[in-house]
Amino acid sequence: MAESASFEVPTSSRSQMVDITARVREVVRRAGVSGGACIVYVPHTTAGVTVNENADPAVAADILEQLEKLVPRGSYRHREGNADSHIKASLMGFSLTLPVEYGDISLGTWQGVFLCEFDGPRRRTVKVKVIPGA
Ligand code: ZN
Repeated sequence: MAESASFEVPTSSRSQMVDITARVREVVRRAGVSGGACIVYVPHTTAGVTVNENADPAVAADILEQLEKLVPRGSYRHREGNADSHIKASLMGFSLTLPVEYGDISLGTWQGVFLCEFDGPRRRTVKVKVIPGA
């Protein structure tokens, strides 16, 4: 049986990467599943999720800075004024599939799971589903 949970993440600036690794791990541990897959999903259009280095915070800062250069705020067709936020969120993506091994997500030594905020500050929802398997 799949285990589902969701949690809220408050963000504090317009663009921000929030390390949610511990919270995803907590859901997987509670599921009591030794192996399978973990889906992490954000039901938003201006926030995404990604995996990257969480040892040196400069990596997240560099990603945000380069995304800002790639997709600056400016004049777009979308009238809400946050077209850049939608584009950055699509570049990061809205879901992750992580392998579950020995009851935990199987991340590399330097990897962490990040919620990527592009139109904050807001409260964001992260949905996690753990699917048992081989
Ligand atoms: Zn919009």
